[in-house]
Amino acid sequence: MPLRRFFKGSVGDGDNIAFWLDPWVCNEPLKDLCPNLFRLEKDKKCRVKCRSAEGRVESGLGEQWRWSRLPASEQEMAELDFLDSVLGSVELSGRRDKWFWLGDKSGAFSVSSVRRLIYNESDFSSNYVLKWCKWIPAKCNVFIWQAEMSKIPTSDALRRRNMVGVEATCSICGEDNESVEHLFTSCWVAMLVWNHICSWTRVQRFFAFSFRDLIEVHEHVGLRGKAKKVFQGIILLSCWVIWRARNKSKFEGKTVKIEEIISEIKSIGFLWVRSRAKFSNLSWTDWCIYDIV
Ligand SMILES: [Zn+2]
Repeated sequence: MPLRRFFKGSVGDGDNIAFWLDPWVCNEPLKDLCPNLFRLEKDKKCRVKCRSAEGRVESGLGEQWRWSRLPASEQEMAELDFLDSVLGSVELSGRRDKWFWLGDKSGAFSVSSVRRLIYNESDFSSNYVLKWCKWIPAKCNVFIWQAEMSKIPTSDALRRRNMVGVEATCSICGEDNESVEHLFTSCWVAMLVWNHICSWTRVQRFFAFSFRDLIEVHEHVGLRGKAKKVFQGIILLSCWVIWRARNKSKFEGKTVKIEEIISEIKSIGFLWVRSRAKFSNLSWTDWCIYDIV
């Protein structure tokens, strides 16, 4: 990997960071994460400022994107989903853009950290690499990826960032501290969802001790090929549905109902598996009795 890849831009006014070419919003440049859209980009060297909503208004540029033609294919739309979700949290500020060195946890560049990086890449090889599931949309994969890094706004994460007035307990059960591990592995709602999914898909019951266990569980339940990929997607999609139910309960006061979560998993799963996993002949009945492969 080239050394320049280990610098990451931290966006201020967005004037110095190349939107597609520099790593800034993720640890990889967007041209690598969204190669199909990059192909459609007219101005490959454009700055972050030119592609952000605020920067656009400020500099009087009309549209956000400049495509050679409108994105249309499934991959292009998935990449657009992905861009939407990662750019959602970006805000430009008046300060200049800064650069961080990724080779060291402190973000400060030093010769010794380069040496460490070159001679001992263990810092990086120990980083967890999430295997993306292709039949669920990018926004779902991004969610899982952020959850795995504990970067979703659970109560526990907000309190760690010194947010005041945050209720510590789980928004669903109110029984334990709300963390990624709790919400998706030990909360009773999660446990019921996993039990239900195991009986629906006729997979042996599993018990996940950590979030990572959960997102790797498809590797250990005796499935192979397409069946394994579908099962992986169902688990990831379920986490996303649980999170949405948690948000509805927290922000709209809606009671979490297990039947609603399950039926949402099945109906969204059906739409996605048919259109994205090329199971176009699959019927709703077959899906419900899980007669898929
Ligand atoms: Zn709970």
